[in-house]
Amino acid sequence: MAERPLTLMAVHAHPDDEATSTGGVLARYAAEGVTTVLVTCTDGRCGDGPGGVKPGDPGHDPASVVAMRQAELEASCEVLKVTHLETLGYADSGMMGWPTNDQPGAFWITPVDEAADRLAELIRQYEPDVIVTYDENGFYGHPDHIQAHRITMAAVAKTDVPAKVYWTTVPRTALGEFGRIMRELGVEWAEPDESEPQLGLPDDEITTWVDTSSYGTQKYDALATHASQTENIFFLQLGRERFTELMGMETFVRVRDVTGAPTPENDLFAGLR
Ligand SMILES: [Zn+2]
Repeated sequence: MAERPLTLMAVHAHPDDEATSTGGVLARYAAEGVTTVLVTCTDGRCGDGPGGVKPGDPGHDPASVVAMRQAELEASCEVLKVTHLETLGYADSGMMGWPTNDQPGAFWITPVDEAADRLAELIRQYEPDVIVTYDENGFYGHPDHIQAHRITMAAVAKTDVPAKVYWTTVPRTALGEFGRIMRELGVEWAEPDESEPQLGLPDDEITTWVDTSSYGTQKYDALATHASQTENIFFLQLGRERFTELMGMETFVRVRDVTGAPTPENDLFAGLR
């Protein structure tokens, strides 16, 4: 039906987020001939530095962290066969409450409209049929993830281009099981705190279940390219085999659709091909 290849755009906050929550769909759809566009909003300067130096500690040089993470991001895109990588280059805002939240250039204090205009330009350029980003809580409350959500929804409203828009999510049943496994592996993994907004969604609110189990190795290898952040990427501790077993299904909630494809669906492009 389409004369040009279908196009998927994923909008993420930091280098490494592309692999964590959408590595499977990026790899799978690229293999199916879909054009894939990754937009990474921040430079990741609040990540760990060479030798695991933490942000704020002596020897943590944001400029060298940025250069290292850009190289890792490019390597991840090669693994996932991302067609186009676009970086917006805002300063990583760090975790909620960090002084970096309002440093000059921080993504968190950038006016939504201003960043959305830049993203809208990319949307007009690539004309994605499908856009994927985070929910309004940025899945887990990181300011840059929340901001990525806000600018994406604003840019979609400005352009009216994508036929479908999705937010990444995780089934609560899977989260419980995952926490159990991580604690078993000795990873500090907090029990759900009832006073905080719950992560993920009940299974019956998830509209879209995409089987990416054949691409588990690629997803793991993409995550592993972010070697400087290994301490923060808990999933790597599962090892390739267990990871592939556990992370084979990527789930989404569909928040915009002009195709009328019935839900639950098992393909982000259902109704478009
Ligand atoms: Zn992130």
